[in-house]
Amino acid sequence: MKQWKIETQAIQGGYDPKPGEPRIPAICQSTTFKYESADHVAKLFDLEVPGFFYTRLGNPTSDAFEQKIAMMEGGVGALATSSGQAATTLAMLNICKAGEHFIAASTLYGGTYNLFSCTLPKMGIQVTFVDPEATAEEILKKFQPNTKAIFGETIGNPGLNILDFEKFSAIAKEKKVPFIVDNTLATPYLCRPFEHGANIIIHSATKYIDGHATSVGGVIIDGGNFDWESGNFPELTEPDESYHGLQYTKACGNLAYIIKTRVQLMRDLGAALSPFNSFMFNQGLHTLPLRMERHSDNALEVAQYLEKHPAVSWVIYPGLPSHQSYERAKKYLPKGASGVLTFGIKGGAAAGKIFMESCKLVALVVHVGDVRSCVLHPASTTHRQLTEEQQIESGVAPDLIRFSVGIENVEDIIEDINQALLASQK
Ligand code: PLP
Repeated sequence: MKQWKIETQAIQGGYDPKPGEPRIPAICQSTTFKYESADHVAKLFDLEVPGFFYTRLGNPTSDAFEQKIAMMEGGVGALATSSGQAATTLAMLNICKAGEHFIAASTLYGGTYNLFSCTLPKMGIQVTFVDPEATAEEILKKFQPNTKAIFGETIGNPGLNILDFEKFSAIAKEKKVPFIVDNTLATPYLCRPFEHGANIIIHSATKYIDGHATSVGGVIIDGGNFDWESGNFPELTEPDESYHGLQYTKACGNLAYIIKTRVQLMRDLGAALSPFNSFMFNQGLHTLPLRMERHSDNALEVAQYLEKHPAVSWVIYPGLPSHQSYERAKKYLPKGASGVLTFGIKGGAAAGKIFMESCKLVALVVHVGDVRSCVLHPASTTHRQLTEEQQIESGVAPDLIRFSVGIENVEDIIEDINQALLASQK
């Protein structure tokens, strides 16, 4: 089959209706699927034949979403999950068990930081956070014999630092561990993590993939490019007693990781995405390339405007030449730097509060990646469970305002920002 470009994959990928079938993937809101032969059902359970038997483990609407996003990221397979948090949790649990360890860039979404620093350690899995700008030598020193992965966000939320893929992937290769990337803020349209050495990608599909603030969900995508037999991953290479001795690498080849996540962890932990939400994500993906272009264009214009505004003390946007890793952003995000920017206002957090409450078009909501512009103060919301030190480590200054620039007319957005900034200075 001809290799489609990403704009075509977003619309036509993942679903190929036969004559008389619906043009778009229908919402298959059914928990289960009917069969005539018990032997056939047994074969489904044994992974001997493809097919659906229970929606926790697979569903046609979710399958269409999984196939499409896997195609768009350039992976071999995907698993839809009930949230981005579930995607990260399953992605880590699939290779780390009690007594093991992984390394993560410290500049993470607050929920991920909490998961890694509080919840996974309660299950016996330890993390070491590293400054993503540390040298390779410094990061390599943090590895232990039981280190199983290295994790980072393409664009840190809300630090907006750009991950140094070259450095992280070289470290992962040297240590024979998978490089896991949260590509939520960049999306497959703006950044191609598998082309830069990532092995596994996760998304909060709740953000740009949905794009319209309707549905919570997540997805894990397997690059099929990690040699599990080269490292220390007996869970993938040795017989799985919970699946009558299945050896994932032998039975599933380069789909070993993603099939194990589905048939073992999704079976047991059950964080499945509802078919309705898969339908919404399929719809969202149709326009993802168009939206990401407009989000990026609008955000750049807003960032340039803010940089010149007398009420603004600082602006961070990876598309601005003043950004600390502007050159890296151009390399890894050649089509645009996405729709999220951060800034501080003269008068600090108190003035920031007045600014957010004075916005009329721009809404104060706990969200990013919506077609509608929205604004948030992470230190008092998404990152409030972290200590001040942890907040700084994850890129959250006390006065930081996170602005998710929507795809409205940019002049209207700027006009609203201006009146709210003026109000904040009274
Ligand atoms: N990763 C990033 C970068 C996020 O911004 C978020 C949520 O904001 C998540 C993961 C978690 O996703 P969800 O809210 O869908 O569980």
